[in-house]
This record gives sequence, structure tokens and C-alpha cells, in this order.
Amino acid sequence: MRILVTGGSGFIGNCFVKLLLEKYPSYQIINLDKLTYAGNRDNLRDVEHDPRYTFVQGDICDPHLVNKLCQEVDWVVNFAAETHVDRSIVSSDSFVRTDIFGMYVLLEAVKRHNVKKFLHISTDEVYGDILEGSFKETDRMLPSSPYSASKAAAEMLALSYLRTHTIPLLITRSSNNYGPYQHPEKLIPCFATRLLQGKKVPLHNPTPIRDWIYVQDNCEAVDFVLHQGVIGEVYNIGGNNERTNLEVTQEILRALGKDSSWIERVSDRKGQDMRYSLDCSKIHTLGWRPKISFQAGIEHTIEWYKTHPTWWNKINKIVIAGANRAGHAGVVFNTLTLLSDHSIAGFLDKNPHVERPSDYPILGSTEELPELGGIEGAVVAISDNVGRAAVSRRLKEKGLKLLTLIHPHAFLTPGVLVGEGTFIGPGAVINANVRIGNNVIISAGCVVNNDVIIEDGVYVGPGTVVDSRARLREACFIDAGHRIKVDEVVAAGEKR
Ligand code: NAD
Repeated sequence: MRILVTGGSGFIGNCFVKLLLEKYPSYQIINLDKLTYAGNRDNLRDVEHDPRYTFVQGDICDPHLVNKLCQEVDWVVNFAAETHVDRSIVSSDSFVRTDIFGMYVLLEAVKRHNVKKFLHISTDEVYGDILEGSFKETDRMLPSSPYSASKAAAEMLALSYLRTHTIPLLITRSSNNYGPYQHPEKLIPCFATRLLQGKKVPLHNPTPIRDWIYVQDNCEAVDFVLHQGVIGEVYNIGGNNERTNLEVTQEILRALGKDSSWIERVSDRKGQDMRYSLDCSKIHTLGWRPKISFQAGIEHTIEWYKTHPTWWNKINKIVIAGANRAGHAGVVFNTLTLLSDHSIAGFLDKNPHVERPSDYPILGSTEELPELGGIEGAVVAISDNVGRAAVSRRLKEKGLKLLTLIHPHAFLTPGVLVGEGTFIGPGAVINANVRIGNNVIISAGCVVNNDVIIEDGVYVGPGTVVDSRARLREACFIDAGHRIKVDEVVAAGEKR
């Protein structure tokens, strides 16, 4: 049995991969994960060398890769998604792309290669909120946030493939998961790790109710549905633990010996759902029930965050490779400081005396990288293509994520595919259906128009205009202020 798990480096996915490897010694697992900010290779370090496990870094929106992998497997389980409601409210692009278009790519590949089962992981949020009673699987979907709408749209598309193409579809809709290895942007790890650092917890609204399920319980239910579910059916998976946000916060405070003076009220989430509730009688009748009580689960979870500071301390800690303050590294530095999503541990440069922002150390050379043990990722801000590719490779070999950095004022319309390691400078305007490869630098004030293809390692200088359907081939270099005309091709390695 060969199973493709997508999004296996995320919070629930890693728990599911470990469960499969433990429970089914003969199964082969391929984990396809893009390693977005939410994906973390550390989550699966324990099984990395298991011969039954293969990691593929890649995107579910990449038809070529997805088709290749679907040819090799019996079953597919799709966890890959953009998952954070607050992020979807700020910007929905990546949600529409991964959660909907990625689903389309998977469905097409499942259809083409006769994959024998396709289990899609959905959420209770597709129903929207319910003030009294609980949703059954047959109830209508009425999502409230761009996140839940993208998940509902994915389900609609999948259900249409079930009806039209009779693909072997199963869907699970689970309630809020909690447990070890959850990204600290989500409520329970956010609050636990903040309190552990002596910081207050930002509570948007005390009254909304969520049903909480321990992640291991959800993964056991997913496994149950994968092996025993009826093709074409949807299954609600709940923890039977409805709690207000305030009750959950108080549990975390209690577990860490703090009182309610550590709560700080912040403005409410837009479009807030007031209560989620699932009727899980369908899966209960089939024989699955959750095992972990909220009390036991939360205690174990808080203890895990307490004893694993190296796991969460590393998240969002990055280095900037290439330290010239006047050049790209300076722009990257300023952009990162503006975004304030990451903490910058320092710079890497081959010249230890290079001009750099004060208070940020040079941690070592880009030629011979230092240890970098507590660092999650890097932005490679080196304009020379050959040097950039070499440093990127070395950083990747060290297990660092190469980060995409998009300035808040950049304008990226839907259909854009922005590759890993991309740095797009302030004021860039990038129009629809532009495809951008890895380690591309597009500097401030550039305009890139529709249907342009930009291959790996390209540098586009400030003020350049790239007209529609132009193609910038691999590792070309365009200095400031050029105009690349409609349909023009800049050859691989060419300098202008
Ligand atoms: P997560 O954000 O922790 O992990 C998502 C994973 O998907 C990451 O490893 C990320 O790198 C990967 N990914 C994102 N875009 C990708 C792409 N284009 N191609 C390949 N990989 C990509 O999410 P999670 O909490 O583990 O949730 C997993 C699934 O379960 C999601 O589909 C989510 O909607 C669903 N779900 C989550 C919850 C919850 O409470 N966490 C509840 C119900 C349903």
C-alpha cells in the first residue's frame, strides 16, 4: 500500500503520518509538502530516515508533480491547505490558490491515474456557525471567512467530481484540533508560548464557542474513515468538548499557574463565528469515538509546549544571507522589520566587515555556513545568480527553509505563482497569471504584466517594466529601468 499524504509537515498531517507508520508496518508513505510558513520538517525528524517514508518538497498546485506522484500511489489523503482564518481575512490569495486550485489539481490527477481512494480533510467551519443544535453532514454549507469559504469550495468541487467522474472520494469535517506541534499562530499554542515567555495573551472575544478535539483522536478518526468509510460519504469528527474562548483561555492559564490579569482584550475578528457544533452520530454509529478528555488533552499539550521550547523558539527565526546594507539585504531587512512577522537573528556574509544595521550580528560566512541550530529559515539576498543559487543550496542542505518575502505594498493579483525564496521589493505591481520561479529578485517599483513567465534565479532591477507574455529565462539579469516588450524572451544567463 502506497499512500500520498499532502501537507504532512503541518500540525495534523505530521501526527497522521506517524500514526500510519506506527500502525501499518507495510505501508509506504510519501509526504508532499510545500513547507510554507506553517510546514516544519522538524515535525517529522523522528521518521525522516524510515525507509517507508519519503519527503517531497512541492506544491499541490503543480500538476506535473502531482500527476507524477499520483501515478505511484494507491490512496491520497489531502491535508495541504492554507489554514489560518486571520491570515485569510488579511489576504485570501493563497487560500484560493492552494485550497481550491490545489484541490482541482489533485482531483484531476486522482481521476487520471485511477487512484483507489481520495480522502479530503475538511473542517466544521464550512457549515458556518449555529447558535443552537448541531450540524449534520447533510446540512448546507454557509461559510463565513475566506478560509472556510475556500474549504467549502474545495468540497463542492470534489463532490462534483464524485458525481460526474465517480472518483473514490471520502471527506472528513473535523472540529478545532489541538495538541503538540501546532504552529504558535493558533489559539492554544499562541497563548501557551506567550505565557511561557512572560507575555500577556491577546483574546479577541471571550464568548465564541468551539468544539475541541485532541489531534491524535482526529488522526485516529481519519484513519478509521480511510479504512472503513463508505466511498462518497462525508463524516463529521468532533471532540464533544464545546468551550467558550474564555474557558479555553482559563484552562491554559490554570495549567501554567497564571490568573486572568494575563488576559489582554484585543479587537474582535471580522465576521466572527459564534458557535461551531457537530452532530457526530454517523461516525459514532460506525464505531469511532474520541478517547481523550479535554482536561487530559490540554494538560498534555501545555506540558509539551513547556518541555519543547527549542521547537517553538525556532519558528519565524531567520537569517538574511548577504549583508550589504545598501543593497538587497538592506531592503529585505527593512521589509522584514515592517512586516514584523519574523525575528531576525542576524546576517550571513562572506565579508565579516560589511556595512549592516547595528545590533544585528554577522553570524558567519555564506561560504562555510555556521551551525544555525536555532534558526528556521533564511532570505537569500544575493544579486549574483551563481552565488545566490550556491548559497541557497547550502542553506537548504542545512535544513533551513528559504523564505518568500513579499512587501506589504506589492500588488499580487490572483493566478500569480510566486516561488520559494522570492523577494519582491516594495512598490512592485504584479499582474494576473504571472509565474515566478525560485530565488527571483524583483526590485522596487517594477511592473510585471499579465502572463509573464519568470524562471528560477532571475534578477529584475528597480523601475523595470515587463510587458505581457514576456519570458525571462533562467538566471537572466536585467539592470534598472529596462522595458521588456510584449512576447520578448530574455535568454538564459543573458545580461541587459
Ligand atoms: P497547518 O497549517 O499546520 O499545515 C498545513 C500544511 O500544508 C503545512 O505543512 C504546509 O506547508 C502545507 N501546505 C500549504 N500549502 C501547500 C501547498 N500548496 N502544497 C503543498 N503543501 C502545502 O494545518 P493543519 O492545522 O495541520 O490542518 C491540516 C488540514 O486540516 C487542513 O486542510 C485544514 O483545513 C484541516 N483542518 C484543520 C483543523 C485545525 O483545527 N487545525 C480543523 C479542521 C480541519
